[in-house]
Amino acid sequence: MKRRWAPRYSTERFNTERRATIDTHAIDTGQLAACAREIAAAGRELGARGWTPATSSNFSMRLDEGHAVVTISGRDKGRLGIDDVMVVDLDGHAIGSTSKPSAETALHMQVYRRFAEAGAVLHTHSRTQTVASRWFAADGVVRLSGWELQKAIAGTRSHEGTLELPVFANTQDMPVLVRAVDAWLDAGKPLHGYLIDGHGIYAWGRDMAEAHRHLEAFEFMLGCELDLVTLGRTPR
Ligand SMILES: [Zn+2]
Repeated sequence: MKRRWAPRYSTERFNTERRATIDTHAIDTGQLAACAREIAAAGRELGARGWTPATSSNFSMRLDEGHAVVTISGRDKGRLGIDDVMVVDLDGHAIGSTSKPSAETALHMQVYRRFAEAGAVLHTHSRTQTVASRWFAADGVVRLSGWELQKAIAGTRSHEGTLELPVFANTQDMPVLVRAVDAWLDAGKPLHGYLIDGHGIYAWGRDMAEAHRHLEAFEFMLGCELDLVTLGRTPR
C-alpha cells in the first residue's frame, strides 16, 4: 500500500510558506527511496570516472506518471545521498521541497514528456563528451556509423546504419534548449541522446541500467571518433 509522502518540515511552515508547491498526490515513499539509491549509485560510479567534475551533471528517474526524482542543484554528484534528490512534477515544479532542482531539470522533464517509455535520464560532462561537442558543433551532429557499439542503443540492430547524435548550441536559457530539442523531434528525426556544445551529453533509457548503457556507449563511440580525428582521419 502506498504511504503518503510528507514533507520534512512542519505543517505550520508548510501552510505559510509552501502551500503553492505542495502537491497532494500520494507519493510512493518506497519508490522514491529506491530511485534515490539508484541515482546515488549512478552518481558514485560516474563521479569516479571523472564524468561529473565540480558538482556538474544531473540525474533523474521517473517516479510515476506525473512525477520524477531529480538531483538537487549544486550537490557533489559522486557523493549523493537520499537528501540530495527531490521530487518534481513533469513541468519541473518542486513538490514538497524548498530545495532548488538541478538547473537543467527542464531538459530532463522534456525527455519524460516526449518519451513515454523513458524511465531515467543521465546528463554528464566528461572530457570526451565535452571535447566532442566542440569538435562536431559546426556540423550540428555527430554521425556514428560502422561502430559495433551502435547496437548498445535500444532499437539499433546493426553497425551498418547511421546513428545521429545532434549537437545543440549551449545556452543558460533552458527554454531555448528545450525548443531546439523539440524542433529535432518535431522534424521526425530519431533521438537517443544529444550533446550540448562545450557542455556535455544527455542520454536516457527505460530504466537506469539502459540509460547507463546508452551513456557508456556514446562516451565510447565519441572517444573513438576523436581518436580518428587525432590520427588524421580523412573524410569517408
Ligand atoms: Zn550540464
